[in-house]
Amino acid sequence: MMYESINYKKRDNQLVQCNTCSHFCEIQPGNVGVCAVRKNIQGKLELLVYGQAAAANIDPVEKKPLFHFYPGSQTFSVGTLGCNFRCDNCQNYEISQIDKLKLEQSLQNYGIAISAQEIVDRALNGNCKSIAYTYNEPTIFLEYALDIMKLARKKGLKNIWVSNGFMSNSTLEMIAPYLDAINIDLKSFDQDFYQKYCGADLPIVKQNCQQIINYNIWLELTTLIIPDYTDDYKMLGKLTNFIKNRLGEQVPWHISAFSPEISWKMRDGKPTSLELLYNIYKIGKKAGLKYVYAGNVVDEGLDDTVCDHCKAKVIKRIGYKVSNNLDDNKCFNCQREIQGVFK
Ligand code: SF4
Repeated sequence: MMYESINYKKRDNQLVQCNTCSHFCEIQPGNVGVCAVRKNIQGKLELLVYGQAAAANIDPVEKKPLFHFYPGSQTFSVGTLGCNFRCDNCQNYEISQIDKLKLEQSLQNYGIAISAQEIVDRALNGNCKSIAYTYNEPTIFLEYALDIMKLARKKGLKNIWVSNGFMSNSTLEMIAPYLDAINIDLKSFDQDFYQKYCGADLPIVKQNCQQIINYNIWLELTTLIIPDYTDDYKMLGKLTNFIKNRLGEQVPWHISAFSPEISWKMRDGKPTSLELLYNIYKIGKKAGLKYVYAGNVVDEGLDDTVCDHCKAKVIKRIGYKVSNNLDDNKCFNCQREIQGVFK
């Protein structure tokens, strides 16, 4: 369904400028922006996927991943078609990297008509603690997300974004009052990587991470470790120092393993070894980050939350099975605070 964008400017000769994400696309009549889901129709910018989910499921919040935000709870997860990034390593490319010319066909294949109210109702019926805007970049379906977020807030549900962090300042300002937590993909600390493999800019993502902290929204970060692309120890040293010094030692950093066989355009890449993940885990700890998590390393316990003071395991995780031993937000053993949103 079409819905007029809430964050754009009309220019001369029916040209429009979208201000929703930091691409700030200038779009001629009849054309769409980089994300493929915002179209200039006779001088009006329309979101083409409002109320049209490509996926809607109940997931564990750990899957987003968020480890310090109501651990063990369920989150109603929703996403649409399209994306404002073009990541060669994308593992969700069937819904994110749609052909601009075949949007209607894609909508038929993937679209589920579901209203904002219905999503909130389904989240409540499913005993979810929150709604997660995920699977593709929520910035590009801002109007749909925002309507759901407002209804969710009224019903006591929390709102979570899983994002590439490339929204514009004005978009962040619009969502901040309703946003409780966000996981941002900090893909690399190398601007060339962002430009070449994602079609985006690192400084914008860094700036938005800092803004999220200023807004007092719970932030966690994820870096996908792609051998030969995002595994440089020096670069990751800079990335982790940035987290520690600019965002805070309490920001959880998730590192995850790359699977070339499910990627969009990196099929001949190498999978991430356990040894590499472990070495990078140590870089995060050496930088002084309190909470570093290595995804899929079941046997090593690198997904557990450990008290920074007494080293007691306060939250144990095996896959998505969570055993929470927190005393409210305190370590059961030494009563020191574990940062996060737990109650
Ligand atoms: S959301 Fe971003 S990519 Fe999409 S039209 Fe707007 S500025 Fe362009």
